[in-house]
Amino acid sequence: MSMLTAKKPTRPAARAAGRPLPELIFGDLWEYDPAPETADPKLKARYDLFIGGRFTAPASGKYFDSINPANETKLAEIAHANAADVDAAYQAAKKAHDNVWGRMPGRERAKYIYRIARLLQDRAREFAVAETMDGGKPIKESRDFDVPMCAAHFFYHAGWADKLDYVAPGRRVAPLGVVGQVIPWNFPLLMLAWKLAPALAMGNTIVIKPAETTSITALKLAEIFQDAGLPAGVVNIVTGFGDTGAAVMGHPIAAKVAFTGSTEVGKIIMRSLAGTDKKMTMELGGKAANIVFDDAPIDQAVEGIVNGIFFNQGHVCCAGSRLLVQETVAAEVLAKLKNRIRVLRIGDPLDKNTDIGAINSKEQLGTIERLVAIGVKDGATMFQPPCKLPSKGYYFRPTIFSGVSMSHRIAREEIFGPVLSVLTFRTVDEAVEKANNTAYGLSAGVWTDKGTRILKMSTELKAGVVWANTYNKFDPTSPFGGYKESGFGREGGRQGLLDYCKLI
Ligand code: ADP
Repeated sequence: MSMLTAKKPTRPAARAAGRPLPELIFGDLWEYDPAPETADPKLKARYDLFIGGRFTAPASGKYFDSINPANETKLAEIAHANAADVDAAYQAAKKAHDNVWGRMPGRERAKYIYRIARLLQDRAREFAVAETMDGGKPIKESRDFDVPMCAAHFFYHAGWADKLDYVAPGRRVAPLGVVGQVIPWNFPLLMLAWKLAPALAMGNTIVIKPAETTSITALKLAEIFQDAGLPAGVVNIVTGFGDTGAAVMGHPIAAKVAFTGSTEVGKIIMRSLAGTDKKMTMELGGKAANIVFDDAPIDQAVEGIVNGIFFNQGHVCCAGSRLLVQETVAAEVLAKLKNRIRVLRIGDPLDKNTDIGAINSKEQLGTIERLVAIGVKDGATMFQPPCKLPSKGYYFRPTIFSGVSMSHRIAREEIFGPVLSVLTFRTVDEAVEKANNTAYGLSAGVWTDKGTRILKMSTELKAGVVWANTYNKFDPTSPFGGYKESGFGREGGRQGLLDYCKLI
């Protein structure tokens, strides 16, 4: 029996029923026993706004539900902040900046930032479970990537806080004042750390809005701010929808605004702030090309492609959603990819075996389904493995489109789901041209044995990050950000700090 057509094995069922376990046939795909993560996420039934160091009810008295996308159950109620709440948050932030945080020596600020990182490490499992329940990503991602990277960003920037004289050699730096920040739902905790840590290290105070579907871990982090003794008003968290976000971006006290989200909303914000003296950084959409040359280590490349688009449900703005593969190896790469995604495990994100969890929301699932239907209608060939999806929750099978041309919408638009479009090329120049033929420019991947080709590609690809023989690798020391409609400004590293200071 081939691995791919194997009947569903019955060992877990037999074990549960107390029957002898059936023999495993070599090569069969068997089911893993369930391995649910059991740490208590310590959720509250209702989350208020975090303003001036305290949890505060919203002025309107309105709350909305946060839903677990894996099973459609309600997790908690989240406060809906209006303009009056956002104003109160800015007033608290201004007071904290002018009286405390902006004047505090960097070495003192560093102690608070270290403490935040340490307290997060202490509660890492609890935060990972909360992140997975709120956003739908597999526990192995939130446990092994999101939470440790979040802590790493606070540690790294704590290290900078007493060395700010080295951020811009020959110049002195000063905080900007109060900054307003809006973040999306794909990496709720990590995006929070990317935004907060450099701003805090520099001496700014903050008003931040998490995405409406993933506010819980931001408010759990507020508990850590309280435990760390962070002075009141240094970080203020307001929750809500686009109206709350617009109030955060447009507030007159904000000296700088930083936004991560869709290009569409980024453009709305830029238009509304044109003519003001606010500094701005934008991290927007992407349509990355993962480029595989015929001399690449193919098996390694296949793993990198899978990691780049299918893990984390493709909910990554730098996801390798376009595969450009050299014609001579295209058939081999495609065959290996199909085999690989047949054995990905989709389902309960809290199960430690799960590779692909839930799509973040019903709306996002609808967007993916719509774009995939357009791909089929436009004539591309679709492959999906025949896996069973849970009956409740928002799930989407990993999907590969082959026979895609540059004019297809699935090759041009950001899908933000586990959907890969495969295109082919013959020469290096054709690969560069196709990769750059997009409105975006956030990231790219190159797979080849030749160092000179890596250097050429990383020079010619118009993308903020180019990974070579790997994909989706992050580090707090390494700046991240885009070209063209993927935005401007950098987050991480020394460059990221420069976006949060005045040079004097
Ligand atoms: P995505 O497609 O990643 O969900 P969005 O751009 O829709 O990206 O959302 C990213 C963040 O921007 C969310 O926190 C959302 O609430 C917020 N947002 C949506 N509309 C606006 C707006 N007009 N102004 C400011 N923030 C907004």
